[in-house]
Amino acid sequence: MSLRITHLGTGSRGNSTLLETDDVKVLIDLGFSGAQLQKRLAMLNIEPEDIDCALLSHHHGDHGGGATIAQRKWDMQILANERTAQELDLDPLKTSYFGALDVIRIGDELSILTVPVPHSGSENVAFVASCGGERAAIITDLGSWTDELIKHVYGCEHISIEANYDDRKLSAGPYPYSLKERIRGRGGHLSNSQTGQFLAEVSTESTRNIVLTHLSEKNNSPHLAESTVLYYISEVFDGDIYISLQDGPEMTHYIGASGLENLTPTKLNEVKID
Ligand SMILES: [Zn+2]
Ligand SMILES: [Zn+2]
Repeated sequence: MSLRITHLGTGSRGNSTLLETDDVKVLIDLGFSGAQLQKRLAMLNIEPEDIDCALLSHHHGDHGGGATIAQRKWDMQILANERTAQELDLDPLKTSYFGALDVIRIGDELSILTVPVPHSGSENVAFVASCGGERAAIITDLGSWTDELIKHVYGCEHISIEANYDDRKLSAGPYPYSLKERIRGRGGHLSNSQTGQFLAEVSTESTRNIVLTHLSEKNNSPHLAESTVLYYISEVFDGDIYISLQDGPEMTHYIGASGLENLTPTKLNEVKID
C-alpha cells in the first residue's frame, strides 16, 4: 500500500503532479497543453486515458489551462471547487465538485483532503493525500498561510511546496513595481524565506522528503531556494530536499511504503523535454 508522487513539471508555464496507488492514477492540476501532458505521461508509459481523475487547485492557466481539453479529448473526470469550475467553464457532466476541508476518496487506498489557501482572485486549495498511514502535502500558489494549513500539513512524510522567488532577486529584477508588490502580497506567492519559515513549523522527524516547486525562472534559482529553505529548517528536518523545475518528469517519491525500496526516491533516466 503505497502512494507514488511524480511531478510532471512545475512553474509559471505549467504544473501537473501524478499520484499513483496500485489501483488509481490521479493528476493534481492540468496546467500543460494536451500535447505536453501526453508527452510527459508517455515518458512514464501512461496514456491520458489511464488517468482516473484530475483535481484542480485553482483556475489560473498554469494549473487549469489544460482542463477543458482533457475533458473534451479524453473524457477526463475533473474534481474542482465551484469557483474554479466556473472560471474554467468545465463540462458539468465530467466535473465533480468539492468544498473546503472535504475528504475525497479515490480507489481503495487513497484519500485527499482539500485545504483552502490565500491566493489572489482565486479559490485555491492545497491537497493532503493519505495512503497506507502516511501523508503527502501538495501546496502551491499562496501568498501566506493559515493555522489550518499548518495543522493539516504538520508531520506529513512528504511535502511539495512552492518556493517562488528570492527576495533580493525579485527586488532587483525586471518586473514593474506593481507586479513585484502583487507577488509579495498576501495573495501572491511564497518567497524562499517564507517557504523556509512555513516548513520550519510543519516539518517533524517523520518528514522524509521536501520538494520545492514553482520556482520563478527570473526571480529565483535552485541553489538559492534550497540554501534559503535549509537555513530555516536544518534544526528540525533530517530528510532530503529536491527541486521540481519546469521540465519533467524527474523523480518519483513514495509514502505509505510497503517495502524498504520504497523509501528511496527513484531517479528517471535522462528525461528532458525541449
Ligand atoms: Zn495561481
Ligand atoms: Zn501557479
